[in-house]
Amino acid sequence: LAPEDIEDRRQARVRDPRRLRHLREVHRATIGDRLTLGIQGGGIGRGELVALDDEEACFTLDAMDQPPPPPLPVHLVLALPRPRMLARSLEHVTALGVKQITLLHSRRVEKSYWQSPELGEQKIRDHLVLGLEQSRDTVMPEVSLARGFRPFVEERLPGLLAERQGLLAHPGMPSPCPRGIDRPTLLIVGPEGGFIPHEVERLLDAGCQGIHLGPRILRVETAVVALLARLF
Ligand code: SAM
Repeated sequence: LAPEDIEDRRQARVRDPRRLRHLREVHRATIGDRLTLGIQGGGIGRGELVALDDEEACFTLDAMDQPPPPPLPVHLVLALPRPRMLARSLEHVTALGVKQITLLHSRRVEKSYWQSPELGEQKIRDHLVLGLEQSRDTVMPEVSLARGFRPFVEERLPGLLAERQGLLAHPGMPSPCPRGIDRPTLLIVGPEGGFIPHEVERLLDAGCQGIHLGPRILRVETAVVALLARLF
């Protein structure tokens, strides 16, 4: 639920056609169903669906006091994958609890990916919401776009690394991905074709530690999930 859906502490109405469709087609909700409901940025509780038509859904609410699950202290920097893989990656990493995501350009990112409708604000939000719903979380991740590799490395990376350790996932790096971390982490994942050697050098020179996931080369969406699962 969005905060504006709540009419008072006991009742909520959803009028957004896309969310009504989701309620019907994905949740297959019918009147009388008891549902777990999260308020974006707030708590999680239970409610009952008391009315549903083409225009709105109405819920009665029980106490909304269960806090969302804790976030992962990982800022994910993801070289922009092709649109369908981006959608799945955003959903998975959001479900796993990542709250800061930077989408990065690099030499092997197709320029056309930046024109994809998947990068529209609403589309990104839709994927994040699916991840939040899946994991019963209510806190929306922040997503930023870094359309230039060099400006990112020179202007943003030093500030990010001042407060976090930097891990660069790249096949063939000497160290395995750590199992468990004890401090905030910046995790950098390359594009489908991988980072070029010069980019790897720049990231390592900036202070990132190169890590690998073993001899199997994984697709981006698999790699991000495997890396996050190892880190936690
Ligand atoms: N041919 C590319 C290369 O060798 O870099 C493969 C790129 S892979 C499909 C996409 C991204 O997933 C990589 O840039 C890396 O960040 C991550 N990745 C996939 N498999 C990995 C592995 N075994 N170790 C570390 N990172 C991996």
